[in-house]
Amino acid sequence: MHEISIVRNVFETLQETYPDKFERITKVQIEAGLLSNIQPILIQNAFEALIVEEPALAEIELEVILLPIIAHCDACDRDFEVKRHKFVCGCGTPSKNIVQGEELQISRIEFLENQL
Ligand SMILES: [Zn+2]
Repeated sequence: MHEISIVRNVFETLQETYPDKFERITKVQIEAGLLSNIQPILIQNAFEALIVEEPALAEIELEVILLPIIAHCDACDRDFEVKRHKFVCGCGTPSKNIVQGEELQISRIEFLENQL
């Protein structure tokens, strides 16, 4: 299953990046472009499965934001949204110059406030 390795990878990255603060993470937001074929429900299912292995992760909320596909048209020098895999600008010029839609990245992390 593709999604479980993505989720595992996200938390491994966070563990490496924030070794001191990892336990205080309350929320993680992931941005996934539509071309990455990420399905939020499958990510949530994979996260549930990972929590069974690592119960400490149950404290964390995981949110997936889907980003639309945006391509750039050189003819009119504008960005346009690609819908239904139609890579054609409003001006009629085809373009596969993708500027957004392939990414899969951690976009936001929230930590529990320091408690004195
Ligand atoms: Zn155009």
